[in-house]
Amino acid sequence: MRKIVAKQEHCIGCGICEVHCITQHSKSKDIIKAYNRERPRPISRVRLELNKPVSFAIQCRHCNDAPCASACLTGAMHKDEKTGLVTHNPEKCMGCWTCVMVCPYGAIKIDKEGHVVTKCDQCADLDTPACVANCPNGALECVEVES
Ligand code: SF4
Ligand code: SF4
Repeated sequence: MRKIVAKQEHCIGCGICEVHCITQHSKSKDIIKAYNRERPRPISRVRLELNKPVSFAIQCRHCNDAPCASACLTGAMHKDEKTGLVTHNPEKCMGCWTCVMVCPYGAIKIDKEGHVVTKCDQCADLDTPACVANCPNGALECVEVES
């Protein structure tokens, strides 16, 4: 399966990954409209960790044992054995935040307006995830690993 790997030594802490994640998950897919017009503004599923001079981007690791999926009471969080991706279905999410508490990477975001959670979907409909494709310094990379 595909994994996104952060290369801390190349990260310059610019936060462009977050900007493009928001844009990719907006209705318009347009950077200006996503920021200026869309309410609520989409939430970035990648998080920039910044403690100068160190920075790196982190998002869902799509864990093999996926504690979030095991802990989810409604089946909203699901490990797809075929693709290896951990997917989230907002329709089934009851906003109990259990997955948020068990994720060891802090990769699940709370969408307060929707009373649900949200997380990286690896831009499954794109050849290359938006954060990887748009990082100006090659600090995010896609690699294939055995699931
Ligand atoms: S949300 Fe957290 S626990 Fe769940 S698969 Fe991703 S990294 Fe693992
Ligand atoms: S892969 Fe896509 S969804 Fe995941 S963090 Fe990057 S831009 Fe966001």
